[in-house]
Amino acid sequence: MKKKFKLLIFLIILLFVFFLLSQLRKEITIIPNLSYEKDKEVAAQITEMRKNNNQSLLEKYKQLRIIDVHSHDVDALDLSERRNNDNYTSVKDLWSKYGIDQTVLFGAVSDPTAIKSDLLSWRYYEQYPEKIYPSFAGVKIDKDGLSKVKQNLEIGYMHIGELFAAATYSPFASVRWKAKHPNDGNLPEVYDLASEYNVPVLLHIDPPKGLPMQQFELAMKNHPDTTFIFAHGNVHTSPQYLRDLLDRNENLMIDFFSGYTLHNPGGDYKLDDFARIVEEYPDRFVLGSDSGYEIGLENSYIAMYEFIDLLSPKTSAKVAYQNFEQLMERQAPTQEQINLIKKLTEEKGVENKTYHLNKREANELIFTLQKMSN
Ligand SMILES: [Zn+2]
Repeated sequence: MKKKFKLLIFLIILLFVFFLLSQLRKEITIIPNLSYEKDKEVAAQITEMRKNNNQSLLEKYKQLRIIDVHSHDVDALDLSERRNNDNYTSVKDLWSKYGIDQTVLFGAVSDPTAIKSDLLSWRYYEQYPEKIYPSFAGVKIDKDGLSKVKQNLEIGYMHIGELFAAATYSPFASVRWKAKHPNDGNLPEVYDLASEYNVPVLLHIDPPKGLPMQQFELAMKNHPDTTFIFAHGNVHTSPQYLRDLLDRNENLMIDFFSGYTLHNPGGDYKLDDFARIVEEYPDRFVLGSDSGYEIGLENSYIAMYEFIDLLSPKTSAKVAYQNFEQLMERQAPTQEQINLIKKLTEEKGVENKTYHLNKREANELIFTLQKMSN
């Protein structure tokens, strides 16, 4: 009897050891990799690009990576394919024509209709992950809006906005979920989530003075770990105003809409005037087309190059893409991404593997694994 009992214990231990070993073999480990260094060699490449003065700006900077941080064009991405209209150019074709390498893509903003365009942005991201940073702007600013924000951030969206944190003069000022000011409704909780996920928030604030801007500065002060991007920050402001704003708020970045300053005939300032401020704060500016609002998309892209051409090589590299890329590369994989990777790899029979990933890479791995299942 005693002998049999010992044998049973031995077998149980043996089974347990086998079980542990089999689990160990299957283990999929995901380690966040958030390292990012701005490539210092790009400045020298830009100096080289500038040596040929006979080229157009577009040819000159063909090799320079450009990120457009502000695009409402999700609905215009692939129309040419559907319309079969030779005269019509889809936005994606314009990206290739104007050397726009990546775009922060959304559609409608601060309105129920944005829920649909946010989904579309994600769908195109799945299709063209190398060209798109998915953003969402369908944020309802009352209590029940928050769970959707968290859900989107968990799924893998890497950017929030454009949100109408105050809008009086914009032709879109009637959007249903716009805020009265940047601390209205649940916006402070949205900023908390943004800092938790290390995702930047792009805010539209008009007019860019008085109470809306006081509230904006209060929001930046109350949420020091959130990165705020001031949408088209050079519209109806001055270089000196931006300098003071940047000086006071370390977590602020400026979405620079070069096309506005270049093409606005009544404007008091030239691109040169702003370029000087950018040299003082080279890590705080990014480029946005605003879908060519009032000036046309193509003019807006060309204006980006006009502006880059005024900056020092080192600053050009940062503003063209590095400042924004850093914001994207330093986001960690979310729990939902991790769970999905584990599930998909398990289905593929992948065993004993360690992934070092950021949020973007986790998205891309998920897309690859999903394509393998289809
Ligand atoms: Zn705007």
